[in-house]
Amino acid sequence: MRRGTNLPWVGDYNQAVVLDGIRRHPGTSRTELAAATGLTLQTVSNIVRRLLERGLVQEGVALLRDGAGRGAGKPRTALSVRPGAALAVGVQFEREHVDAVLLDLSGVVVGVDREPLPDPLAPVELVVAHAAGLVRRLVGAGGADEGAVRGVGVAVPGPLDFTGPVRSSAINLPGWRGVAIADLLAAATGLPVLVENDATAAAVGDLWRSPRTGRSFLYVHVGAGIGGGVVLRDEVLRGDSGNAGEIGHVVVDPAGPRCPCGSRGCLEAVAAPAAVVRRYVERVGSRTARAAGLRLAGRTVLDDHDLLGARAGAGDREAARVLDAAADDVARVVLGVVNVLDVSEVVLGGAGLRRSGERVRAALAARLGTAMTREVHPVAVRLGEAGEQAGALGAAGAVLHEALSSTWAGVHAPVRQVVISPVAPVH
Ligand SMILES: [Zn+2]
Repeated sequence: MRRGTNLPWVGDYNQAVVLDGIRRHPGTSRTELAAATGLTLQTVSNIVRRLLERGLVQEGVALLRDGAGRGAGKPRTALSVRPGAALAVGVQFEREHVDAVLLDLSGVVVGVDREPLPDPLAPVELVVAHAAGLVRRLVGAGGADEGAVRGVGVAVPGPLDFTGPVRSSAINLPGWRGVAIADLLAAATGLPVLVENDATAAAVGDLWRSPRTGRSFLYVHVGAGIGGGVVLRDEVLRGDSGNAGEIGHVVVDPAGPRCPCGSRGCLEAVAAPAAVVRRYVERVGSRTARAAGLRLAGRTVLDDHDLLGARAGAGDREAARVLDAAADDVARVVLGVVNVLDVSEVVLGGAGLRRSGERVRAALAARLGTAMTREVHPVAVRLGEAGEQAGALGAAGAVLHEALSSTWAGVHAPVRQVVISPVAPVH
């Protein structure tokens, strides 16, 4: 039996089931909900009445059936969520900036904003102050009802320590060893904060916005580093400590460069944006690289990586060579993971794919032609719709999803530990 959620503003498990059904299928009716959930029509009607009273759901135009089948000609009441009834902010830290999105209950992004970070080596408190300012600006700009904002979801690169106050030791972000990020941001914003590994957050976002159920997929998130989020039959795979999916630390070249994790030749050390830029400079020399427009500063690595993507498209063979090599490294690791997990989709996203996403997608599509399951089911590869905001969007979705979803049992235990509520929940 799956465990439900106990957050006070949603209530019981069945209510979460019904609300999730309405959210995923706008325009559905009480009768359809009863059929889909296995609940009696009376139970569904009671729950819908409570959801209407709470303002989470609204009744729409009465639709007429098309005349085919039973109930022909009878009007019915279409149900949908009230988009503004619950909102969440998603925040994603990258080396150079913080992204934030404001997500409404229907899954629509109603605001997007970005704040540059002062310096990768800036004190964490300063970084958090910038993020808090961004959250306030985003909520204010959207004209949103502040009382409807349920919390802030934060996507940060792993590894995360969920055992106490959530601590991030993001190895890509210098100075982020043992940072109690949730505490700091909750204090700075006055909102409950939920922390999620960025790749897992991106996977949650893709799951939450999809009308389909029963999905198994790997989300490959390329930011400053490379991470993976795993969803099996709609359940998020988290592992013992919430850090499952670290595909960036699969060794692809045992003689390769040292990785901050302590190993050598990890995928991240040979194929992440910084590694691609470094390889390009090794091949052409720094003078030529600068003449090509690369700035070669630590904080410009994503911009430099974008520039290489553009140059490769415009005929720079060395740029194309290093990007293709990285794309193939990613593809080989992903193929291995696909074979281990038997997923049928790979979704790509993150700021590191802004200009080279199609190149990685093509490399993956080619490699996946040898997937073990290829004759049982195809493995589709696509670029995620949320693009580089995928982590932020997913973290916001996780805040709403924690209370709304009936299909996401796997996430409850760790998430419950990391929700910090400095203020009373809003009803
Ligand atoms: Zn590593």
